[in-house]
Amino acid sequence: MHHRLQEIVIMGTCLTMSKKKRKRYGGAAQGNRRPLDGSHEEPMPLPNPMVGFNLPNDRLRSVTRRLPQQAIGPPFFYYENVALAPKGVWATISRFLYDIEPEFVDSKHLCAAARKRGYIHNLPIENRFPLLPLPPKTIFEAFPHYKKWWPSWDPRRQLNCLQTSMSSAKLTERIQCALASSGNPPPKSVQKYVMDECRKWNLVWVGKNKVAHLEPDEVEYLLGFPRDHTRGVGKTERFKSLGNSFQVDTVAYHLSVLKDMYPNGVNVLSLFTGIGGGEVALHRLGIHMRTVVSVEIGEVNRRILRGWWDQTQTGTLIEIADVKSLTDDRIATFVRRFGGFDLVIGGSPCNNLAGSNRHHRDGLEGEQSALFYHYFRIVDAVKSAMGRM
Ligand code: SAH
Repeated sequence: MHHRLQEIVIMGTCLTMSKKKRKRYGGAAQGNRRPLDGSHEEPMPLPNPMVGFNLPNDRLRSVTRRLPQQAIGPPFFYYENVALAPKGVWATISRFLYDIEPEFVDSKHLCAAARKRGYIHNLPIENRFPLLPLPPKTIFEAFPHYKKWWPSWDPRRQLNCLQTSMSSAKLTERIQCALASSGNPPPKSVQKYVMDECRKWNLVWVGKNKVAHLEPDEVEYLLGFPRDHTRGVGKTERFKSLGNSFQVDTVAYHLSVLKDMYPNGVNVLSLFTGIGGGEVALHRLGIHMRTVVSVEIGEVNRRILRGWWDQTQTGTLIEIADVKSLTDDRIATFVRRFGGFDLVIGGSPCNNLAGSNRHHRDGLEGEQSALFYHYFRIVDAVKSAMGRM
């Protein structure tokens, strides 16, 4: 019976649980939960193409699913993280989140930039609809002016995943030099060098032999945020927050099923809110947010969300800094006060799961990534508190 509990203790994260709760975890449903040492984990195969359970306007590939009994809401919940995590990570996340199968989607099927993410949620998957207007799906549809300097030997029509950092001026200078000193078209070796860097950093052509990184407002646009959403903070901060955020069209497509269910609006518990990709998605869907309790540690991110909220929303926004301070008691109080949460949404940090910083790529047990266990703890606490209502 202790598997899940053991796992939590192994994480070194201080999650205290009541005796009663521990008992609940002893049920047969948890019988398949094994200790988390990685070696027993089956890798989760990623689907190809990575289109999730279905895509807008593609009824052919649509699947049906039956959720495990213990997964069924209320509340609805929606969890996100990078698809390409080390072996066993998604299997573990799925085991904690009531054995729900992840929905892996590459946002390149919905917009002009790739973003491979896994989503675990208990939302219905029938009758989804996309945000309108549909976002551009190619670079030239999104930014027609880049056609002018785009060389014929650059075959890219979509961008790669938008990252948290930008390329250096040194690199673009080196590329310009390499091209200036070779013919037209440049030799294959130069083409390869340039294309590798362009793909890695999402560089676009802005002049003869001249590439540049995207500007923050272009990244906002590609990710489905309103223009200037992150404006007013430093450029580095903007790239960082945008690089970590949801692709709004993708998330909105999944959340669209809530619209008919909640004509009077929703109460949302938003964990790891960032710059509010989930909130922007709900807003763009026309779903009123009566209350959002938002938990986000970054001061800059909180400022961005608050700015957007005050300009666009009439509901109540309650801000909390750290998921660790959102105790089960506080959750129960919120649940009583708002009559429960309709949606618990969030993507916990992926710092130890992905990216170029291999040194800290230590899986779900990494300091940041282990925050996932708070996501699980909080969803479970909301479930119990709502069960007592
Ligand atoms: N989905 C969000 C971004 C998620 S990235 C969006 O659309 O923008 C993960 C976020 O978790 C980051 O913004 C990070 O600042 C935040 N975070 C990290 N540690 C946290 C903690 N202990 N409590 C709350 N938020 C935290």
